[in-house]
Amino acid sequence: MDDTARFTLKIWGARGSMPMATAQTALFGGNSICMELRCGDRVLMFDAGSGLPVAGRAMLDDGHRDIDLFFTHCHYDHIVGLPFFRPLFDPERSIRIWSGLADGTTTQAMLADFMRRPFFPVGPDVFTARIETRDFRPGDTLSPAADITIQTALLSHPGGATGYRISYAGRVMALVFDTDHTPGTLDPTALQLMAGADLCLYDATFTDAEFPSHSTFGHSTWQQGLRLAQAAGAARIGFVHHATFRSDDDLTAMEAEAQALFPGAFFARDFQVVEV
Ligand SMILES: [Zn+2]
Ligand SMILES: [Zn+2]
Repeated sequence: MDDTARFTLKIWGARGSMPMATAQTALFGGNSICMELRCGDRVLMFDAGSGLPVAGRAMLDDGHRDIDLFFTHCHYDHIVGLPFFRPLFDPERSIRIWSGLADGTTTQAMLADFMRRPFFPVGPDVFTARIETRDFRPGDTLSPAADITIQTALLSHPGGATGYRISYAGRVMALVFDTDHTPGTLDPTALQLMAGADLCLYDATFTDAEFPSHSTFGHSTWQQGLRLAQAAGAARIGFVHHATFRSDDDLTAMEAEAQALFPGAFFARDFQVVEV
């Protein structure tokens, strides 16, 4: 494949709610949410969970100078890795940080509020990269580069979260996590983001059996993800935001169950690479 047409996902953190490193989570990984999309030579990062510093180490010598980092929202599991992302300390780099927080908080205010005493020793002014913050409203269409289009939408999550639909080189990838659902219905926003997508990532914190006692947590189930993927005509769906204590054995069994129903389904593992 011509390198400019390359559209690749790398998963740096698939765990939800908080990082979890145990012997029982070694296979699927314990880092919290962080996804890297490569569109040709452009680097787009989505969320800054504990997977982000790991991604940062891998980027130190790869020659990329520009990074766009998008937040779905700023719950701890999606931001805790930010201060440890090495490219932020490289004066040769330009990094744009984007968020569309539902309460109107700006990206800059969010960063300053997160990195402050007594919770953290230093503020975002320690970063030495050229940093630009960008604010948008969920529903806006973003264009971080001429050939990349990103549609955004507000997901159903406490305090709101942004879902993304990224189009590049004739292919589409949807990020739909930190979202809940109403049993018996298909969320039109999720359907819109996932419509005809080549690859989706979806929130599978719970199972349908667990859902009735967790319906207000702002998360969904892999079974609901499959219903949406089938209705939306999506080709493949990767499940993310694994519940904190979900073991490798649990996830392997859930993946087999999902694949028996929908061959394009998988449960995401840290460090997994998937061509969109
Ligand atoms: Zn989360
Ligand atoms: Zn959240």
